Amino acid sequence: MTSFRIPFYRHDLGQAELDEVAKVLAGEILTTGETVAEFERRFAALLGRRHALAVTSCTGALHLSLLALGIGAGDEVITTPMSFVATATAIIEAGATPVFVDVEPDTGNIDAARIEAAITPRTQAIMPVHLYGQMCDMQAIGAIAARHGLAVLEDAAHCVEGRRDGLGPGAVGVTASFSFYATKNMTCGEGGALVTDDTALYEKLRLWRLHGMTRSAAERATEGYAQWDMIQMGWKYNLSNIEAALLLPQFARLEAKLAQRQELARRYRQGLAGLPGIAIPAERPGGIHAYHVLPIWVFGRPGRDAVIAGLNRRGIGAVVNYNPIHLMRYFVDTYGYAQGDFPIAERLGHATLSLPFYPGMSLEAVDEVVRAVTEILAENRN
Ligand SMILES: *Cc1c(COP(=O)(O)O)cnc(C)c1O
Repeated sequence: MTSFRIPFYRHDLGQAELDEVAKVLAGEILTTGETVAEFERRFAALLGRRHALAVTSCTGALHLSLLALGIGAGDEVITTPMSFVATATAIIEAGATPVFVDVEPDTGNIDAARIEAAITPRTQAIMPVHLYGQMCDMQAIGAIAARHGLAVLEDAAHCVEGRRDGLGPGAVGVTASFSFYATKNMTCGEGGALVTDDTALYEKLRLWRLHGMTRSAAERATEGYAQWDMIQMGWKYNLSNIEAALLLPQFARLEAKLAQRQELARRYRQGLAGLPGIAIPAERPGGIHAYHVLPIWVFGRPGRDAVIAGLNRRGIGAVVNYNPIHLMRYFVDTYGYAQGDFPIAERLGHATLSLPFYPGMSLEAVDEVVRAVTEILAENRN
């Protein structure tokens, strides 16, 4: 395992998180209990939604959302090819078919203007992804969904803090799903959550999160044993108190960390401005960009992969968010997708790389990364 001088990502969990985990260990309930409930109350309040449900992953949250709405075999769900594969695989897990729509050339977000052309009699839902932390055009997507009687399920894995036109994640969608995977803006290593304003749906999702059982282990342990029943098929998606404890102290840091990422992003934008063949996804004015990662697009020579290799040689980490989903081998083999199906996603996906970007990264480190990119471009052009 290579260790980079400037890594792609470095988490900021420490003593505060250890202290919260120690509290859980001093108690009796390691599995889903009061610590999870406290996290859910605070997360729902943060997002301004009625309910939050903590689960083991964003993939699980998306899967549960689809199941709870009765979306499955024979149904189609419209989504974007410019995302992590989990957006599309959650749809497949539910038994439905992902139908891709190409993206906006300047942000990489799903292009709302192209959605209606992809709607068929089988379409049940739209699953937009707030890519890199920037909200999609939820006003437009919400209007299309209303016109066609479709559900909106938001993949907000990048976007705890984002807003646009006064709308945050979950304002338009029946649910919005979040990831607390290792490199996300809030993290417990692995975890996720969804939010919803729909109380009936929330009650269903709660059951489905844990085997369709009427009572959890924590309830049985704290309220005295009571017989439980399994009243419907359910899944095993509950988050533990240990993981919830890791998340609790991070609420207090969210705002400061966002401000810091915004400052790093400004520095990157200034530094990279005017470099030939390099572009950064546009930031729409008037909203809040949650800045989960800092991608750039390398158009033309020397190509994205050469820039990554050059960065790595200089001790600088970089990753790809994302090669387009529809050209992953499974999707080509299963659905017959081919090069050229979604040309904008392909152009962006083959040009994109994400530069180092994390809380605690210094502006000097940003400058060093910018110098490295500048050098690599110069070397390869001569
Ligand atoms: C990380 C991510 C997911 C999956 O999250 P998990 O918690 O790992 O399941 C889904 N969608 C997007 C856009 C992501 O970045």
